[in-house]
Amino acid sequence: MSETIFTRIIRGDIPSHRVYEDEKVFAFLDIAPLAPGHTLVVPKEPAVTLDALSEESAAAIGRVLPRIARAVMAATGTRDYNVLQNNGVAAHQAVPHVHFHVIPKPDAGGGLGIGWPSGHLEAEDGKRLAGAVAAQLAKG
Ligand code: AMP
Repeated sequence: MSETIFTRIIRGDIPSHRVYEDEKVFAFLDIAPLAPGHTLVVPKEPAVTLDALSEESAAAIGRVLPRIARAVMAATGTRDYNVLQNNGVAAHQAVPHVHFHVIPKPDAGGGLGIGWPSGHLEAEDGKRLAGAVAAQLAKG
């Protein structure tokens, strides 16, 4: 697979407004923000979707995400925010390199709009689905 724009940003070939970098993680401002401070937190590992990410990179992202969220909210004077992570074209993933959006939700409006067409979980379906997922997890 050819490299993505995020790999080129991480390498410094394409300019970005960097807010954080360590050995495994790079974070920068989104070029088309949903709200001021909209930040992308990206593992340097070029996995396409979250399920393909190594435990090392996942741990590195998990360790720093709350800190970056705190910094973005403090810098923008925002209290509420969304963390969004899209996987696959149908799920609105435009750049095929894992990334987490940290999107402030200003009191004045803006930020992420979410359609949430919730259903209802029947007891039998819940039992069957939870069992199926747990069985997959038990495989390792
Ligand atoms: P997604 O739809 O989850 O794949 O989001 C990709 C995000 O990358 C979008 O919000 C874009 O605005 C953002 N993006 C694309 N190119 C750049 C760039 N050169 N610098 C900063 N953000 C970018």
